[in-house]
Amino acid sequence: MRPGDVETVDLLTGLGRVLAEGIVADRDFPPFDRAARDGYAVRAADVAEVPARLEVVGEVKAGDWPEPGVCSVGRGQAVGIMTGAPLPAGADAVVMVEHTSLADQLSDQLASQPERKLVPKLVEVRRSVSAGENFVPRGAEARAGQLLLDRGRRLDHAGIAIAASVGKSRVLVFRKPRVAVVSTGDEVVEIDAAPGPAQIRNSNSYSLAAQVQNAGGEAVRLAIAPDEPRRLRALIEEGLGCDLLLLTGGVSMGKYDLVEQVLGELNAEFYFTGVEIQPGRPVVFGSCGADTPVRLDGASSARTQTGVSAPHGKYFFGLPGNPVSTMVTFELFARPMIEALAGMTPQPLIFLRARLKSEIRTKTGLRRFLPAVLSGEFENAEVELARWQGSGDIAALARANCYVVIPPERERIEAGEWVSLLMR
Ligand code: AMP
Ligand code: MG
Repeated sequence: MRPGDVETVDLLTGLGRVLAEGIVADRDFPPFDRAARDGYAVRAADVAEVPARLEVVGEVKAGDWPEPGVCSVGRGQAVGIMTGAPLPAGADAVVMVEHTSLADQLSDQLASQPERKLVPKLVEVRRSVSAGENFVPRGAEARAGQLLLDRGRRLDHAGIAIAASVGKSRVLVFRKPRVAVVSTGDEVVEIDAAPGPAQIRNSNSYSLAAQVQNAGGEAVRLAIAPDEPRRLRALIEEGLGCDLLLLTGGVSMGKYDLVEQVLGELNAEFYFTGVEIQPGRPVVFGSCGADTPVRLDGASSARTQTGVSAPHGKYFFGLPGNPVSTMVTFELFARPMIEALAGMTPQPLIFLRARLKSEIRTKTGLRRFLPAVLSGEFENAEVELARWQGSGDIAALARANCYVVIPPERERIEAGEWVSLLMR
């Protein structure tokens, strides 16, 4: 993708898209001293000693503008105020209504004094407040002109709220990277075909397309590549027309695992051809079609404003074909690449921690990502491994909602220990 690949979309269409512009405060936030409670705007000094009786000289509700001179708070006075309303001039705090009583009976007493014709409404304040309490001063959240959301930020509901609050009904976003998905395998058939006795349906293309969409890309599902080099090569070449190519299957050590071989014929450069994880160990990452070799040292030539540049050809991932391996390796490796291609500022993977319900025994040497069920809430969160038949078991994965991450050196993890979880 080139940095110029941007488009303007309606704000809500921008959900999940990556901002190609910064969002700036168009005014102070809040734009006035904003009451944070329902109650009375007062001078803190007047309620230093409580109970204190103040004369109620007006009321401001949200949306009202207390014109100084018409509605302000003088010594011994208070103005009724509602949450979200501007603080009248003269006031320096808000007393919560819960700490006051509107003193009808006090008014009655005063009314009985014959020399008073106009009966002032009185409020009794039972609790002191300090100056500055219960209102948010103008500009305390943000000053006019301040950057509220960075370019490169993916819009979520909070980002949408920010854009809405500064009046951006349209936002400039990066174009979605197009991500080609090629499934490989002689046994794999399209999902609307009737599978033969030894065939399986192509679930990986669909799970990957869903993951691509979730990551902010546009999935382009290509035909299934048989375990035969010529057709596989043609599909790889087609896929390299997209911004990123994802292949599944055919990257293990089997006699018909041809993906690396065919990529090699296309002068691919491989950055890794295996990772010490399970599931997903045979995952392959590289680039193809580069005139000059890619530098992965973060040198400026390797990056553009949208994160990853094209001069080095197209990046590809060969993901293992076992469905759970495909899903895990996508999250760990392909998702960050798609986010970078989408112009997003890099984000760390999100891990949670929870207490393990039952002991786990495993072999050392690989970092493991085991499907598991997280339940309970807050400090009672607990996690239990899903029963599964290995990395082909999508039924188990569908019952799970996360992966327990087991460090490579651990052979046994006791019940009650805190473990890291990768959410999905
Ligand atoms: P492979 O990585 O090609 O050795 O495949 C590993 C396992 O994943 C085999 O059992 C394949 O049948 C299965 N598999 C490969 N591709 C797909 C696919 N597109 N959808 C579902 N399962 C697949
Ligand atoms: Mg295969």
